[in-house]
Amino acid sequence: MKNTSSDNAVKLQTKEQFKAEIARWAAVMKVKPAQIRVQRMTKKWASCSSKSRVSFSADLLREPKPFQDYVIVHELLHLQVPNHGKLFKSLMNAYLPGWENTLTDRNGSAARSLCIQQFLGQ
Ligand SMILES: [Zn+2]
Repeated sequence: MKNTSSDNAVKLQTKEQFKAEIARWAAVMKVKPAQIRVQRMTKKWASCSSKSRVSFSADLLREPKPFQDYVIVHELLHLQVPNHGKLFKSLMNAYLPGWENTLTDRNGSAARSLCIQQFLGQ
């Protein structure tokens, strides 16, 4: 598999394009985040707060689309389901069939945690 960090082939997506993509997913999933932020985050891919504010790491702009989609859907889904239980997984399957394979493919990157502490270990 080709390493996506080679800088000549990869065209950077702008923050605005990425935010538009998040807004598109929010509409599809019928969730209304109070705020969407794309910012420098080095330890996590994304996080969401209890006040429906979602933040995404700017590093995602360099990630392949399927992985971006996974992180977006995962985080937005927390506005509906606050844990990683059965309902969470079945909704993930409904919105993004095959998400588990995406995650396996991106194993290295996915090692970075997705969510804020309160969601871990569930
Ligand atoms: Zn999560």
